Amino acid sequence: MCKLRVVARPFIVCEVGSGVTAKFWHDNWIGLGPLIEVIGPLGPRTVGLPIDAVVRDALRGTSWWIASSRSRNPIIVQLKNLLPEAQGLLDCQHDDSFLWKTDLHAPSNRFSAPRTWSALHPQSHTVPWHKAVWFKNHVPKHAFICWVVAWNRLHTRDRLQNWGLSIPAECLLCNAHDDSRAHLFFECQFSGVVWRFFTASTNLNPPAQLMDCLNWLLSPSREKNICLIIRLAFHSCVYAIWRERNQRLHSGVSRSTESILKDIQLIIRARLDPLSRSTAHQPNALSLLGTCEPEITVYKAPEIEVKLDNFNEKTDIYSFGIVFLSLALFWI
Ligand SMILES: [Zn+2]
Repeated sequence: MCKLRVVARPFIVCEVGSGVTAKFWHDNWIGLGPLIEVIGPLGPRTVGLPIDAVVRDALRGTSWWIASSRSRNPIIVQLKNLLPEAQGLLDCQHDDSFLWKTDLHAPSNRFSAPRTWSALHPQSHTVPWHKAVWFKNHVPKHAFICWVVAWNRLHTRDRLQNWGLSIPAECLLCNAHDDSRAHLFFECQFSGVVWRFFTASTNLNPPAQLMDCLNWLLSPSREKNICLIIRLAFHSCVYAIWRERNQRLHSGVSRSTESILKDIQLIIRARLDPLSRSTAHQPNALSLLGTCEPEITVYKAPEIEVKLDNFNEKTDIYSFGIVFLSLALFWI
């Protein structure tokens, strides 16, 4: 806790009353910070006032003890200019008080955690692609990995080598190129197969570069539901590829692209299903994937019958059909 004194100190200001408590050199009672920091460590010896003196100790009669000094010493001249009128202290009867001040807010005797947090963590600039990661209905663990990827903070082998670690450079998925963010997402032949699976059957043409792709995901289609699905697919691919890469590294177990694609399909299906149900229960509302209705009559899938065993309500069947057909749009 004592280590935090350095952090907390700039927030504390002293409102001088009688001056018998406030430390002349160490308390921020002139509003510019402690005088020992403004004047420098030579201040106390130069002006002849002890380092532990209180503000009242600096008064001689009705003025400061250096008020009559004609010295041209820059420290003395600077201090004389910084000190406020002494008359106010002489007339004051109440004690000195210590207040909490954050940024431009007025000092207060109340501690504000939000204001202090904001002062300690000033907002940085907003990246234009943040809504491609933190969009409504995202899968949290997928979005988190995407966010880390976007900031290039994953421990890919190229970064570990830059830190001085002696490790192999090869990509664990293809063993043909070096392991890096740009290669994993999605220059790698293995990961490219996974991502292209979700875009090949559509008219969507995402950029090849990861960051360009994130910007593209802000508005990949005019249809809102298509935007949601393609973003979920992108997130799932990033998450699954990074997971597969780590499994190969730590456990030596390798999976095929087909197996990974099945997992991603199940994840997205599970995410869309409750969303579609809630949409279907709203009268006059567009279904989650209402724009995909032409596909309804042409798609035949044996898995539907197995899945429908779990649904009893008519609305459940309707909702599930919408979800499944939406998936069919991408994966047939
Ligand atoms: Zn590779």
